[in-house]
Amino acid sequence: MTQDDITHIKSLLHSPKAIVIIPHKNPDGDAIGSTLGLYHYLKKHNHEAVIIAPNEYPDFLKWMPGEDSILKYEYQKEYCDDKLNAADLIFTLDFNALGRIGTMEEAVTASKAIKIMIDHHQQPDDYATFMYSDVTMSSTCEMVFNFIEKLGDLDDLDSEMATCLYTGIMTDTGSFRFSSTTSKTHAIVGQLIEKGADNSQIHNNILDTNSYERMQLLGKALTNLKVVPEYRTAYITLSQEELNTFNFKKGDTEGFVNYALSLKDIIFAAIFIESHQDNIIKISLRSKGDFSVNAVSRSHFQGGGHTNAAGGKSDLNLNQTIEKFISILPQYKKDLKAK
Ligand code: 5GP
Ligand code: MN
Repeated sequence: MTQDDITHIKSLLHSPKAIVIIPHKNPDGDAIGSTLGLYHYLKKHNHEAVIIAPNEYPDFLKWMPGEDSILKYEYQKEYCDDKLNAADLIFTLDFNALGRIGTMEEAVTASKAIKIMIDHHQQPDDYATFMYSDVTMSSTCEMVFNFIEKLGDLDDLDSEMATCLYTGIMTDTGSFRFSSTTSKTHAIVGQLIEKGADNSQIHNNILDTNSYERMQLLGKALTNLKVVPEYRTAYITLSQEELNTFNFKKGDTEGFVNYALSLKDIIFAAIFIESHQDNIIKISLRSKGDFSVNAVSRSHFQGGGHTNAAGGKSDLNLNQTIEKFISILPQYKKDLKAK
């Protein structure tokens, strides 16, 4: 995003506009935090802003300031289509390709609105009028902070915006521990706390909301954990039947894959989750160091993401998916074999 782009966007935002803000499908803390952070900023400037999420998200995100105003495309398609059609501006946050918003893609593509992308995923598609893409960023929330700073409006930051942006930075950095966390990230987080983000309370709201059933499901996942030591790889499976046994709800498996990655000497971890509803195996991949799970997902699992965190899917059954996963490991021998 050049200085010219900023000047242009500043002049666009000078008078009230109809604005739609969109996170990716199955939004996470960064997607909801960044859209809400931007939403509060735009409302302060008298824009008519709405957030349209493609679909539902987990309950542990449903306390964030302004969250109850988020529209869900899967429940209100026609109303949302009208909003998209009438929008002057569409902000797309925390994703790099319109395929990531599912069935909303058509209406967004058809809309005449000026599109502004703010995102930190690798290899972004070229659909936006203005693109603020930076793969070195910890989170889209950090970028929304930078965006507001570029617009010269950091004085607008209030406790609601700070709370939303803090939440997304915290969730996307694994509570400030992933290598994407920089001194700048910490400096920004410091400012967010100063502006009223209650850090301890936010951690409680996100992390300490376990149901007994989720803990039992975690127990099952850990029992299913397998290690392939020669490739420094570990993976977890959860079948639909196992999910049903523990009354699985959206978000329950969030973070499970990190237990596989936390094993000593493991640098590549995966979780495979069977979904009868979508008729796929959902896959989350994680790594440490330079090994790119974005590349693995793009090559083999119809997905992508970042170097150290990516998602994808498989149309094979659970066993076949695992067989495929094991069979591709030798391709990455150079990176994965213990030195
Ligand atoms: P998760 O494993 O938590 O679902 O996703 C990890 C990261 O990969 C997130 O940043 C997410 O946005 C991205 N991601 C997840 N699924 C996909 C996908 O199907 N395609 C792409 N391009 N990125 C994905
Ligand atoms: Mn993100």
